Amino acid sequence: MNKYIIYNALLVNEGEITKSHLAISEGKIEKISPTDDIFQTETYASYQKIDAQGKYLLPGMIDEHVHFRDPGLTHKGDMFTESRAALAGGVTSVIDMPNVVPQTTTNALLQERLAMAEKSMYCNYAFHLAATDFNLEEVCCVDKQNVAALKLFLGSSTGNMLIQDEQVLDKVFSIQGLPVLVHAENENIIKKNTEIYHQRFGDTMPISKHCEIRSEEACYTTSAMAVQRAKQWGTRLHVLHVSTAKELSLFSLENKNITAEVCPSYLFFDNADYEQYGTSIKCNPSIKTAKDKSALQKALNDGLILTVGSDHAPHTWVEKQQNYFHAPSGMPMVQHSLQILLELVCQKRLTMERLVDSFAHQPANLFNISRRGYLKEGYFADMVLVDTSVCEKVTKDNIFYKCQWSPLEGTMFHSHICKTFLNGVLVYDEGKIADTKAAMALKFDR
Ligand SMILES: [Zn+2]
Repeated sequence: MNKYIIYNALLVNEGEITKSHLAISEGKIEKISPTDDIFQTETYASYQKIDAQGKYLLPGMIDEHVHFRDPGLTHKGDMFTESRAALAGGVTSVIDMPNVVPQTTTNALLQERLAMAEKSMYCNYAFHLAATDFNLEEVCCVDKQNVAALKLFLGSSTGNMLIQDEQVLDKVFSIQGLPVLVHAENENIIKKNTEIYHQRFGDTMPISKHCEIRSEEACYTTSAMAVQRAKQWGTRLHVLHVSTAKELSLFSLENKNITAEVCPSYLFFDNADYEQYGTSIKCNPSIKTAKDKSALQKALNDGLILTVGSDHAPHTWVEKQQNYFHAPSGMPMVQHSLQILLELVCQKRLTMERLVDSFAHQPANLFNISRRGYLKEGYFADMVLVDTSVCEKVTKDNIFYKCQWSPLEGTMFHSHICKTFLNGVLVYDEGKIADTKAAMALKFDR
C-alpha cells in the first residue's frame, strides 16, 4: 500500500535540478537515486511504478498564508473544499489565518480549530494565532509546538483585528522563539484617502482608485514602523504581502531576521487590470502599478523577498459584485499560485530553483516545520509532479473552490499540475482528488 517508485523525474531541490528516481514508502521519501539499478532489486518488486517522463518533481508547496473561512464564514469557503483546491494546486501544507468567526485569539480556540482541521482538512495544516490589543496573556502563554506564528494586523483588513496599543506592540515584538507576521497598512492614511475619494466619486467610485486609497504611502509607513520596531526588539519579523517597490528598501539579503512575503496576485496583476477584472481583484493591500509588479518579481527571484504565500481569501461572487465600498477585499488563489509562479519561470523572470525555495524550502525554514518542504530521504513524501510542456486554461469546470469562481478564469497557463502526493499517498491525480484522507497537522522543531 502506497509504495511507489517515480522514475525519470527532474527533481528540484536546494538549488539543483537533477534527473533522478525516487522511492516512497510509509509516508516518507525512502530513497533518491540518480540511477535506477537499485530499484530493480527484490525489495522494490511490490512498489507501484510511475514514469515521470522527464517532468518536474517538486516538494509540495507550503502555503503560509490562507484564509479558509472556517469556522464562521463557511458560505465563502471551508476546510474541506479549500484544502482540496490546495491539493489540486500542488499545495500540500497550509497555515490558516486567524480572522475567522470567532477570531483565533485564544489557545482554546486554537485547539478547537486544530480538532476541526483533523476532521475536515485534506492537506496538511497549522494555524497562526492573532495578537490583538486584548489578548496579551494568551499570546504570552501560547504553546509554541501548536502554533505556526503570531499574526498582527497593523492596519485594518477583513475582520478588523487592528492592534494599536503601543505597549502591547512592544510586548508582542519582544516575544522570542516565534515569527511575528504583520499585515502593514496605515489606517489613518487609508481613512483620509477614503474620505477624499468618497467626496469626489460617491458610490460610483472606480475600482482603479483602490491603489490610490490603499496607497504606496499607506504600506510603506506601516511596514517601515514594523521593521524599525523589530530592529529594536530583535523580533523575527516577516512582513506579509509586500505590494510596493518602495517597501523593498526595508529589507536586505544580509538581515535574515527581517523578511518579506509576496503573493501571486501582486506578481501577476497590476493596476491596469482593474478595468478588466473590476472588484474581483480588489484585495488588501491593493494591487499596485506595473513598475511595482516587475520590482516584486525581480526581488522574489533575487531572494530579497523570501517567501510566497497565496493569501487565498475567497468571497462569493455575489459579495464581490457590489460597488467599490461594499465589495469585500480578497480573492481565491490557493489552487493557481503554483501555476502563476510557473508562468514566471516560463517567462524567465523566476528560476525553477527559486520557485521551490520561496514556496517550499523557506516557509519550512521560517516556521521550523519538521521534515517537510524538501525532497530528502526520511522527509515526508509531500510532492507535486508538474508538466511545463502543455497548456491549461482555467475554467469554471476545473476550479475546486466552494465559491466556484476565480479571477483567473480564461487564463491560459503554460503548465499543468499532474499529481500531488501527500504523506506518501497519491491524493490528486489528473483532475481527481482521492477519497483517501492523508492529511496531518504540521509539527514544529522548536
Ligand atoms: Zn491574508
